Amino acid sequence: MEDSEALGFEHMGLDPRLLQAVTDLGWSRPTLIQEKAIPLALEGKDLLARARTGSGKTAAYAIPMLQLLLHRKATGPVVEQAVRGLVLVPTKELARQAQSMIQQLATYCARDVRVANVSAAEDSASQRAVLMEKPDVVVGTPSRILSHLQQDSLKLRDSLELLVVDEADLLFSFGFEEELKSLLW
Ligand code: AMP
Repeated sequence: MEDSEALGFEHMGLDPRLLQAVTDLGWSRPTLIQEKAIPLALEGKDLLARARTGSGKTAAYAIPMLQLLLHRKATGPVVEQAVRGLVLVPTKELARQAQSMIQQLATYCARDVRVANVSAAEDSASQRAVLMEKPDVVVGTPSRILSHLQQDSLKLRDSLELLVVDEADLLFSFGFEEELKSLLW
């Protein structure tokens, strides 16, 4: 049954470049988690969400993340380029999938919001080169992120604004608990 109260993407106050990317993806309406989570995330609320695989959860966090970054760049004072969004995922494959989804949504604003996956390149030198550019969003596994923080190739303390812990249950079951704690506290 159609929910006539459902909030479509076009009524969420999204940047036209994000709406165009959503249209290109062929998404006519938000999934349930997107409909619930996007407006709350755009209000700056912290969210803990639980949804099945295939529920559209990546876009549920990626769309507000991109929107907030774009809005900040368009309206805020000019600030130094810095890593403002961090997406933690349990595996390299999930890092690849998350980055791919975020990049598809950022197709029309790729110059304004850059996304890097530090788990993509094998060697740490290539990863450091990527991080030197200070991408707006960094995707990676906790061990990679922690290692870059320890090497000082990644600095988050003064710039991080948006944190996503994707597949949090898996992250903890993969034994990343200590790394997550060192990262987050
Ligand atoms: P995820 O749960 O993030 O792994 O997404 C699962 C699949 O749902 C991906 O292939 C997305 O491209 C697709 N998807 C995400 N949001 C929507 C939407 N609003 N309408 C249709 N498909 C979607």
